[in-house]
Amino acid sequence: MTAYTGRFAPTPSGPLHAGSLTAAVVSWLDARSQQGKWHLRIDDIDRPRTVAGAADDILRTLDAYGLGWDGPVSHQSEREAAYRESLALLEARGMVFACACSRQEVAAAGIAGLEGPVYPGTCRRGVPPGRKGRSIRLRADQRYWTVTDRGLGTVGFDLERLGGDFVIRRADGVFAYQLATVVDDIALGVTDVVRGIDLLGSVPRQLQIYQALGHPPPRYLHHPVVIAANRLKLAKSTGAAPATRQQPAALLARILNAIGVPGIDPGFRGSKPGVIDDLLAHAQRHWSPERLPTAPIPAARLQPAG
Ligand SMILES: [Zn+2]
Repeated sequence: MTAYTGRFAPTPSGPLHAGSLTAAVVSWLDARSQQGKWHLRIDDIDRPRTVAGAADDILRTLDAYGLGWDGPVSHQSEREAAYRESLALLEARGMVFACACSRQEVAAAGIAGLEGPVYPGTCRRGVPPGRKGRSIRLRADQRYWTVTDRGLGTVGFDLERLGGDFVIRRADGVFAYQLATVVDDIALGVTDVVRGIDLLGSVPRQLQIYQALGHPPPRYLHHPVVIAANRLKLAKSTGAAPATRQQPAALLARILNAIGVPGIDPGFRGSKPGVIDDLLAHAQRHWSPERLPTAPIPAARLQPAG
């Protein structure tokens, strides 16, 4: 029995780029260095964002970089029954309520939070007369949370400042990322969530869901994201180039160097058969989350020199 189960859960909105590939490498390395399992889940719940062929492309890229996964690939688009079941459980426990408010109405209440307007609690005790429930929100019952991140240490959060009661099923009927992620991570038996630090603010919301479902939460490790020249997170939406599948060893070496694996030359250009497996084997032996940089990783550092 392994004590570690991790996962990588990309959104199939385009090919992997240097940023999402770095996330895959960190997550794979953390799992494999502890003889853990590593699952692959395609987070395609938000169908409008899903691009045809992107999931297959992601699988081929992971394969080219030697990042093998365990078991079948799961798809959030096939998991709706499980989300509905969890929602029913939360309803039975009185943890959720229907909300009639539009985005504009929430903003008009004028409570500024860390990620935008805070929900003013309008429908907490029932939808106002004459209005219809659109979305479903989870009660943010516990306001203050402390998260122990394996890299960052103890981090405190105020769920109220993060928006208060939050949407778990959107007005368009789509289950929200927060609920889908927790339900799927429980189903996969995930013990360790390893992902970019841009998702750190999700932790208290997900802890609230774990608590409401009566399930212990996983361990967390958040790593720095790769940023473009404009200092924003490297993203498909802003034109990040797909990670090459031709001679992947050079990019893999630069990623390993950037995430703190010692003894890797960032100018490495080996192309011998087995070079990817050799790099990954070395990285597994020397992997230590404490060596992750604290600052974001500039994308330029992952590009070939000259
Ligand atoms: Zn409301």
